[in-house]
Amino acid sequence: MNAPHDISPETNATTSNQSSGRLMTGLRRGFRRKCPNCGHGFAFGGYLKLRSECDVCNHPIGEYRCDDAPPYFTIFLVGHIVVPGALAMEQNFSPSMALQLSIWLPATVALCLGFLPFIKGAVLGTQWAMRIKG
Ligand SMILES: [Zn+2]
Repeated sequence: MNAPHDISPETNATTSNQSSGRLMTGLRRGFRRKCPNCGHGFAFGGYLKLRSECDVCNHPIGEYRCDDAPPYFTIFLVGHIVVPGALAMEQNFSPSMALQLSIWLPATVALCLGFLPFIKGAVLGTQWAMRIKG
């Protein structure tokens, strides 16, 4: 006989599938910079500024605090693109340091600025999926 709060393995698996589905939904909607709750309204009012609430479903988007996570993940991703690229160029062509810098410094800035809003959206979607606010 089970206690009232026992969770059967089937229930546990269902809960796990639901939470991973919610996470994927949040990531997909957030990466598109849409409201993670409804997927239709815009989550961003500017380049990186979150709206206080969704235009469509009135979900309080502004209550989510992404803090340092989006820059951290952006630097992590861009570092894994730029460093191997610079090393491969050095090994294969041995260009001058000035040429390396003139290629990779602007590429680093452009990639960071390009990825950051989408990664911030994905972090927002993750917070929505895990119900992390404030
Ligand atoms: Zn919405």
